[in-house]
Amino acid sequence: MSDALKALKTRLIEVADLEAVNAILNWDQTTYMPVGGGPARGRQIATIARIAHEKATDPAIGGLLDTLERQLENLPPDSDDAAYIRVARRSYDRATHVPSKLIGAFYEHSAASYEAWSKARPANDYASIVPYLERTLDLSRQIADCFPGYDHIADPLIDWSDYGMQATTVREVFVRLRDQLVPIVQAITAQSPADDSCLHQFFPEAQQLAFGERMAQAYGYDFARGRQDKTRHPYCTTFSIGDVRITTRVNEHDLSDGLFGTLHEAGHAMYEQGVRTEYEGGPLMGGTSAGVHESQSRLWENLVGRSRPFWEYAYPQMQQVFPEQLGTVPLDTFYRAVNKVQRSLIRVEADEVTYNLHIIIRFDLELALLEGQLAVKDLAEAWRARYTADLGITPPDDRDGVLQDVHWYGGLIGGSFQGYTLGNILSAQFYNQALTAHPSIPTEIANGQFTTLHGWLREQIYQHGAKYTAPQLIERVTGGPLRIEPYVAYLRQKYGQLYAL
Ligand SMILES: [Zn+2]
Repeated sequence: MSDALKALKTRLIEVADLEAVNAILNWDQTTYMPVGGGPARGRQIATIARIAHEKATDPAIGGLLDTLERQLENLPPDSDDAAYIRVARRSYDRATHVPSKLIGAFYEHSAASYEAWSKARPANDYASIVPYLERTLDLSRQIADCFPGYDHIADPLIDWSDYGMQATTVREVFVRLRDQLVPIVQAITAQSPADDSCLHQFFPEAQQLAFGERMAQAYGYDFARGRQDKTRHPYCTTFSIGDVRITTRVNEHDLSDGLFGTLHEAGHAMYEQGVRTEYEGGPLMGGTSAGVHESQSRLWENLVGRSRPFWEYAYPQMQQVFPEQLGTVPLDTFYRAVNKVQRSLIRVEADEVTYNLHIIIRFDLELALLEGQLAVKDLAEAWRARYTADLGITPPDDRDGVLQDVHWYGGLIGGSFQGYTLGNILSAQFYNQALTAHPSIPTEIANGQFTTLHGWLREQIYQHGAKYTAPQLIERVTGGPLRIEPYVAYLRQKYGQLYAL
């Protein structure tokens, strides 16, 4: 290893350590911290973030990267060191290209905007948030303009979470997906809805938590290098490859909430636990993009966790845990209940089939705002029109319409939504590939064996961390680019059976 690379690694591991410290502070704040700790904790996190930012943007890092890029041609492009330099350059540019004055203005504004949204939503008062959102749009454009040379103004913003995915490509993919989904939703919702009353009985929290953990463990989530705790908004957090934690929330009157939340976060966590230990503490640690990360959570939550073979294995155990509630409920009824499809207004409560329509609406509206095709004052109306057209349901108010998600009110406009649907599309594309390599996987799942699938994912995806960009990884794993066909085929097959389409 060259001296310059050694020096760079020494600097970046310090940045990673400080970020991990903040992750621990944040985890503590959202799980066990007494409320009294709030004000000081906010300050502590801000202090660590400032020091981490100073270190990450030190011009010495830029100098080292310049030196290393001149040596790049001596390195095999596929080597870990070459990837390390490329990914470090990307993070450095991201951290330094936006002037600190603009960043400061954005943070100040988004705090005010979030505050205004917290009042506007319960009051159903979109008009009061319009000036804030107009400023957010302006700042989002200014931040995108700090990265000149883009094809579409959303590209730099998408790059932050889904590097290498262009707005126009994603839009084309989403248009085709929407064309396929709308008629499927129409056909399903023309029938009488599945009866999911079996999920809405009383299920004590302790048993739910224990069952979720048992399933996550069966999947292969390593509790010697992780743990699960309760929180309000579930997430997965990584302190090191040896300590990847998940959080969950339990609803004692809705069995699916906690369980599928746990399976989802376990999917994220298994990805992070599966990264090669050589990548510890550097830019290659963690997943490669929001979309690929979400593909792993969705794969374990939906393609496995809501599949018939999985419940052939898991349902008898669940009946043992909840004999009074489920003892007389047949597997078929339960399977239909956890796969209920319905037109709904709220994204986070949406089922597997309608979920992507919620995302595509937000993505299209985001692009229209950034392109100047849609004015902020007309956004609420555009939202209603799209829900009516795509989901066949019109929000009666803005509270459950344009005001429902925090994203635009506490962050940028652009780059925040596409990852969810890219993840769903990729979950099926990757799973398909796994089935081609190992056709026995569904039978194994029905017997409670997940090691073939887990091993395949670790080999093909997890171990590489952020070494390959999402488009490169998709090409390596599937032999081609992102494709919607496996996902559409999966939905058609599964829901065609469930609803006799
Ligand atoms: Zn997720």
